[in-house]
Amino acid sequence: MAERIELTEVGPRDGLQNEPTAISSADKIALIDALADAGLKAIEATAFVRPDRIPQLADAEAVMAGISRRRDVCYSVLVPNERGLDRALPSMPDAVAVFTAASETFSQRNTNASIEQTLERFAPVFDRCREERLPLRAYVSTAVACPYEGPVDPAAVAQVVARLLELGPCEIDLGDTIGAAAPNDIEALLEAVSRLVTVDELVLHLHDTGGRAIDCARRAIELGVRRFDAACGGLGGCPYAPGAPGNVSTGDLVELCDALGFETGVDGDAVRALGGKVRQLVDQG
Ligand code: MG
Repeated sequence: MAERIELTEVGPRDGLQNEPTAISSADKIALIDALADAGLKAIEATAFVRPDRIPQLADAEAVMAGISRRRDVCYSVLVPNERGLDRALPSMPDAVAVFTAASETFSQRNTNASIEQTLERFAPVFDRCREERLPLRAYVSTAVACPYEGPVDPAAVAQVVARLLELGPCEIDLGDTIGAAAPNDIEALLEAVSRLVTVDELVLHLHDTGGRAIDCARRAIELGVRRFDAACGGLGGCPYAPGAPGNVSTGDLVELCDALGFETGVDGDAVRALGGKVRQLVDQG
C-alpha cells in the first residue's frame, strides 16, 4: 500500500480571507461540502475573528451550521484568542488553530502584538482545548522570510516552535507566508525544527508567490514531511505581491503526490474543477 500524505484544505479560510471579494455563505458551504466529496479529510472551514477586521469571514457561524458534517472529515477553525474560541465552541469544530509568526515586525503589523504577546493570548486557548479534548494546530507564519525583515533565521523559527510546545501539545504548521522559499530554505528550516518536532508530524504551509511551491514540497517530501496545507484554485493571493499566486494549489499538490506514488485520497481532477469554479466567483466579484 502506498504511503500516505495528509492534506489540509485551507481555501475556505486562509484562501478566502485573503481574497478581496467575499463570496456568499451559500457558496462557501457548497465549496466545503464539495471539497469533502473530492476526498479532503481535513478542511479549515473558517475563522472566528473580528468581522470588522476580516469581513470575508464574518459568517463563520452560518458556515459551520450550514455544512454537511461528515464523521470522517475534520472541520477546523482558526481563532485569534480565547474570545474567538468562546465564539467558536458552540459551532462544534473538530479542531482549532492559532496563529503567530517568526518575525517580530510581521507579528506587530499583522496582529498588533509582539510574538510574546500572541503566545500569552494562546495560553488559555491551549488550556481550554486540552479540557475540551480538541486537537490544536499552531501556525508559525513568516517561517522563511518576512515582507518587512527579509530572510528569517531558522533558529528564530525553532525558538517560537519551542515556546509553542511549552504551552502544550499542538501540531506545528510552518508557513512560507510570502512564498519566498527555495528547496534549500526548506531543508534548513526542517533541520532547525526537527530537533523539536519529528519531521513527519510537521505541517508545511507553502505559497506559490515565487512559483517554487511544488519544488519546495518535493524536497520536503524527500526529507520526510508528510503533512501539507493547500488551497483549491491556489486561493489567497499575497497582500505583499499584488497579482501573485497564493497558497499552493491543492490540485498541484495532489498531482505531485500522485506522481511520487503517495496516497492522498483526494481526486485531483475534482479538486481542480472546484478551484476553477471558486476562482471565478472570487475574480468576478
Ligand atoms: Mg496561506
